[in-house]
Amino acid sequence: MGGTEDWRDQMKGRIMSLDDLKERMFPEMVITEEMRAAERVFPVSTTSYYASLVKTPDFQDPVFAQIVPRGDELRTPPWLVEDPLLEKTFSPVPRLVHRYPDRALIVATSACASRCRHCTRKRVSASTQESAISSSELQACCDYLRKNPAIDDILISGGDPLTLSDEAVAKILSPIVSVPSVKVVRIATRTLVNMPMRFTDNLVAILRRGKPVYVNSHFNHPVEVTPAAIAAASKLTDAGIPVASQTVLLRGINDTPQIIEELCRKLFHNRIRPYYLFQCDLVYGIEHLRTPLATGLEIMKHLRGRLSGMAIPNFAVDTPGNGGKIELLPQGILRREGNSTILVNSRGIEVTYPDP
Ligand code: SF4
Repeated sequence: MGGTEDWRDQMKGRIMSLDDLKERMFPEMVITEEMRAAERVFPVSTTSYYASLVKTPDFQDPVFAQIVPRGDELRTPPWLVEDPLLEKTFSPVPRLVHRYPDRALIVATSACASRCRHCTRKRVSASTQESAISSSELQACCDYLRKNPAIDDILISGGDPLTLSDEAVAKILSPIVSVPSVKVVRIATRTLVNMPMRFTDNLVAILRRGKPVYVNSHFNHPVEVTPAAIAAASKLTDAGIPVASQTVLLRGINDTPQIIEELCRKLFHNRIRPYYLFQCDLVYGIEHLRTPLATGLEIMKHLRGRLSGMAIPNFAVDTPGNGGKIELLPQGILRREGNSTILVNSRGIEVTYPDP
């Protein structure tokens, strides 16, 4: 299973270039000049565990396509930008983003176990100089939280915060949960997908300390829901830490109703709540992976009536600029007729619902 079972060895032994990937994992892989040019813009990094999930080393493979650069990433239509969600504008102190009244995001590190080609925060995760939040930066973030008690929900993200050592995770969590107005912490991590051995007993114990913690992961394809990922998620849920997944809709990787249905079923059956199905953010380098909004709506239509509501994610687009998150639903309301609303169900059957 992708070499060593110790997460520190997975991190230290990461595959850090196309040449490394070819040499260590896929000798038959052809590396083109265009791929090298894309790699120079957004470097390669992945764990041997995640690379071991590749079945065929080509862009039809959903894991390969998420870790290997291609020339298409260099297309630059004017609607793609470096920071589509204006996180820099909404950063009152370094490493803290405050976009919603009751929530703040803290960028704990720039490092990821595996760099996703579709990453929305490439301006952070593309950095070859991996850097973690310093004590003074953390102090400044906590001071800001104390001065803004309306913020009760903290998302610790990155990069990937769980690429940090147990000691560093504990040091970051402790002052944050000590802020009296902070009621809940969410950890955004893809390590369940790309380095599930990260969830040691010690880490789980650290996450359980203090205030309620949620783990938000990012599964994009059923092949990522491996026995190792399921075991790691079970450790968390057994310890009372809810686990959810945010999926990004990616052309040629998971943009069919069948793939998303299978993914949601597998997650749900293993106590991982399918939380969001996200439209790609308008970040540079991902035009070839974007789907029309209609694709997501068709997928949602397919899921309704087939899966329990608990297994259906919200389909959302994080709109560019300061538009915020908008949830999109397949049309349920058809028209008004007198005192009634005409609805349509998942089988296309019209239903009349009278007003009181
Ligand atoms: S793990 Fe998250 S932050 Fe890191 S590259 Fe993937 S999407 Fe970006």
